[in-house]
Amino acid sequence: MSNKRKVAILGATGAVGQRFIQLLQGHPWFEIEVLAASERSAGKKYGEACNWVMETNLPPEIAEMPVANADVASVEKAGDVDIVFSSLPGDLAGPVEAEFAALYPVFSKASAHRMEKDVPLVIPEINPDHTDLIKIQQKQRGWKGFITTDPNCSTIQLAISLKPLMQFGLNQIIVNTMQALSGAGYPGVASLDIIDNVVPFISGEEEKMEQESLKILGSFNGKSVQNADFQISASCNRVQVKDGHLESVFVKLNEDPSLDEIEAAFTKFKGEPQKLKLPSAPVNPIVVRHEKNRPQPRFDRDTGCGMSVVVGRIRKDPIMSFKYICLGHNTVRGAAGGGILSAELYVAKGLA
Ligand code: NAP
Repeated sequence: MSNKRKVAILGATGAVGQRFIQLLQGHPWFEIEVLAASERSAGKKYGEACNWVMETNLPPEIAEMPVANADVASVEKAGDVDIVFSSLPGDLAGPVEAEFAALYPVFSKASAHRMEKDVPLVIPEINPDHTDLIKIQQKQRGWKGFITTDPNCSTIQLAISLKPLMQFGLNQIIVNTMQALSGAGYPGVASLDIIDNVVPFISGEEEKMEQESLKILGSFNGKSVQNADFQISASCNRVQVKDGHLESVFVKLNEDPSLDEIEAAFTKFKGEPQKLKLPSAPVNPIVVRHEKNRPQPRFDRDTGCGMSVVVGRIRKDPIMSFKYICLGHNTVRGAAGGGILSAELYVAKGLA
């Protein structure tokens, strides 16, 4: 691509915003033009406004960039942008993202618009055709730009692992999560609440997993998305892990494939990003491990540069058809990496 798209990141100082900055370094299609956050940060240099917690150093040129307020006038004053990535808090994202979407393509990590009927909820490997919803959205709302959303972090990895199982007829899913601290943003959960502890509640998370999965794995008939018709029940826990959500998944299928057939379905699974060779696409969206005690967050979260979902412990279940463990990097595939891959898909399809 000769001319790189210039991007603004809203919520640039947070856990996901920092990951966007890290992953966009040297990106072949996108370059960072504007960083925006709250009025607490606006007007400061990024290096002063942000407590950088990524594993790699804060790039010096990013540290020197001014932080803008996360509104259209301030962002436009700070630079000319083509695309907006939003990692704003969910309660704030609704009106702010809508203001941007009237003018720009907005790729949102926030929950505010995910379940609106004319808003795509996209995982590029699963439902690339849902991107066409933006044409309906633009017509209905009279927008020049659009909003497209990524699912919740724990839902993304679950949905990726469920997609290849749909050929066997998904009937019922039960999922129990062990979710990393970075999923709660920065500074997130207070240390005294989580050291020596597991917190068996994450506000709104179970509902998101149960509702979003059905929309993502649903079918688009050119006008609207029909939800997938399996049943799903989620139970979510916060654990003392920095990055990487682990999930125990119990699946009841309509058919009775062997464990080898199930494993083959996981390993063979590829999607549109792999066909199109999108820059952030992992070679294998799902990687299966055979050790009896893997995947583990510390060892496996960076598989496929954090963009692959790692599945292991595939085994029969006495009540359901079978069960497995899956792991995903919540701020890479579950957040910034997923958002960038989605933007790459829209660009490759000529939609952004
Ligand atoms: P975070 O670490 O708390 O960061 C929040 C960001 O939003 C910061 O840049 C903050 O700026 C900015 N912000 C807060 N209040 C604002 C305001 N009134 N106006 C403008 N900007 C404001 O949260 P996060 O974990 O990055 O999550 C961001 C979004 O992504 C959330 O909607 C979250 O649900 C979603 N998400 C997170 C993950 C994950 O793994 N963390 C995964 C998927 C989706 P200041 O520094 O100036 O306060």
